[in-house]
Amino acid sequence: MDAILKPADEKAPRRAPHEIARPSREQAEAAVRTLLAYIGEDPEREGLLDTPKRVVKSYAELYSGYAEDPKAHLERTFEDVGGYEDMIMVRGIPFHSHCEHHMLPFIGKAYIAYYPSGGVVGLSKLARVVDIYANRLQTQENLTSQIVSSIDEHLAPRGIALMLEAEHQCMTMRGVQKAGVSTITTQFTGVFQDDPAEQARFMTFIRGGDR
Ligand SMILES: [Zn+2]
Repeated sequence: MDAILKPADEKAPRRAPHEIARPSREQAEAAVRTLLAYIGEDPEREGLLDTPKRVVKSYAELYSGYAEDPKAHLERTFEDVGGYEDMIMVRGIPFHSHCEHHMLPFIGKAYIAYYPSGGVVGLSKLARVVDIYANRLQTQENLTSQIVSSIDEHLAPRGIALMLEAEHQCMTMRGVQKAGVSTITTQFTGVFQDDPAEQARFMTFIRGGDR
C-alpha cells in the first residue's frame, strides 16, 4: 500500500534537459496549427498560414533563458571600487515572463540590492540575470528565489535584497479578471535577512525615486 505521502518535490524529480525528447521545429509548428483548429480557426486561411512559424520563432526569444547561463554574466567582478562597500541598488528593472500554469505573460519590475564583499558586478549584469530567469516558464515565487540564489552563488555578497512587482495576465485576462492588481514577492539574504533595519532601508530606497 502506498499510504505514505511524499513531499511534493519528491513525487516527480525534475528531469534533466537531456532526458526530455525535444520535438523538431516542424512538430512545434504542427502543434500550433492544432491549437488554432482547437479554438475554432481555420489554420489554412491566408492570415494564419505563417502564424505557426511566427509563434515558434517568437518562442525562441521569449524562452531564450533556457539556453543561457547566468554564471557567464556574474563571473566577472571589479574590485577597484575605491573601497566602496555600502548598498548597491538597481531599481526598477523591467521584466516580462510567462506563468508556468497558463503560459500567459506576467510583466513587472525588479528591485535588486546587495552589499558587496570584495568585488562588484557590472550593473547591467544584474538585469541580464533577471532576463535569463524571466525568459523561462515561471512562477513569480520561483523567479524571485532563482535570481537570488544565482547572485548569491556566483557573487557571494554580504547580503541580497530582491523585490519583484508584477501584473499577471492570467489574472487580468481570464479567471478572476482583476486588472491593475500587482503581486509582490521579496527575498532577503545575509545582512538583509538578519537586520530588519536593512530591509527598511531597502524599501526606502525603492520608494525614493518616486517622489
Ligand atoms: Zn497563470
